[in-house]
Amino acid sequence: SAAQGPNAVRPIRLGMVGGGQGAFIGAVHRIAARLDGAFQLTAGAFSSDPERARASGAELGLAPERVYASYAEMAEKERARADGIEAVAIVTPNHLHFGPARAFLEAGFHVICEKPLTARLEDAVELARVAAGAKGVFVLTHNYTGYPLIREARDMVAAGRLGRIRVVQAEYAQDWLTEASETTGSKQAEWRVDPDRAGAGGALGDIGTHAFNLLSFVTGLTLDSVAADLSAFVPGRRLDDNDHVMLRFAGGAKGLLWASQVAPGNENALKLRVYGEKGGLEWSQENPNQLWFTPFGEQKRLATRGGAGLGAAAARVTRIPGGHPEGYLEGFATIYREAAEAIRAREEGRPVPDGVLFPTVEDGLLAMRFVDACIRSARDDSRWTPLQP
Ligand code: NAD
Repeated sequence: SAAQGPNAVRPIRLGMVGGGQGAFIGAVHRIAARLDGAFQLTAGAFSSDPERARASGAELGLAPERVYASYAEMAEKERARADGIEAVAIVTPNHLHFGPARAFLEAGFHVICEKPLTARLEDAVELARVAAGAKGVFVLTHNYTGYPLIREARDMVAAGRLGRIRVVQAEYAQDWLTEASETTGSKQAEWRVDPDRAGAGGALGDIGTHAFNLLSFVTGLTLDSVAADLSAFVPGRRLDDNDHVMLRFAGGAKGLLWASQVAPGNENALKLRVYGEKGGLEWSQENPNQLWFTPFGEQKRLATRGGAGLGAAAARVTRIPGGHPEGYLEGFATIYREAAEAIRAREEGRPVPDGVLFPTVEDGLLAMRFVDACIRSARDDSRWTPLQP
């Protein structure tokens, strides 16, 4: 843009699939993409309803000819333009990740996609295959990996400060599906309780995958098998709304994951606790600027974002000094900043710079294998069930 000097890096031109009027996460992606100036929203296929798509694009100030009635039309027309989009954000319901993700990867675009990776495991396997051979980068928005203190926690575990990990407790509790809100007009609830659109997992796919991705990111542990007890407490609901899952990791560590959307009083209560032979860590998404480190036999230590004693990985993704709260939007924007780093490296034929971290298609596939194993376990009276290789 005109405000940029001659040495400024040009923003990456971004298209969006989904995220029209009334949608939730699309608007978050637009904020996240803007925060560091690395992307510019240029085109969109915002809705399955062409009129709503058009109105959404107009509201966002896009040129009318860059607002499309379908993602397929956007891929085709943008590919033909000299100033066409370079990357696409996919923010549609779960069953509409696979089609656009594959189409845009095959057309040579970079893809930033919402979680869970797909609605069906077989689609995730296929998408991972396509992404591995694609020209573009694939980024999955498990956004909680963007928090500075989560980067710190990951480095502390990797550096052995907790010793060998024994116990992992991960939970993501919400209350917004406590009643049958899918029948009272919630756009977000309506598709989430439909197996055809959400996939085989309910709360498990929606928020259990976040908890699983986060614990994997921080601990580096490899999940071997699960024993899952999945419930649909709200009468008539066809997908799980409360999940208890025991976890066995390679090397002997054990874990417990609780995902619930029927726990009154919980908003976005994603929590992670990790305990090793030498100490523990505790972090909570609703207070993301604090991390407890509890070395065994010593005083507990409270690490603060931007505060004393943090390592380089946290500093790299810290935007403002400690004490000024950073939160969900900044963490989300960090995934976009990492995506921009990876995209520019790919375009220039360089390796991704050191320290740049983002969830990949393989992380998405692993989370889908986790969901699949939980469902198979639950159907077999919570029997211990290995992840499909
Ligand atoms: P939503 O229902 O609010 O929005 C979905 C949007 O997709 C709507 O604009 C809808 O019109 C559009 N859409 C549907 N079919 C389409 C089509 N064929 N072409 C173009 N657009 C189409 O849903 P949401 O809550 O925003 O969730 C969307 C996705 O984001 C889901 O996969 C969800 O799991 C994920 N999500 C992630 C986070 C996170 O923290 N990372 C949070 C919320 C949702």
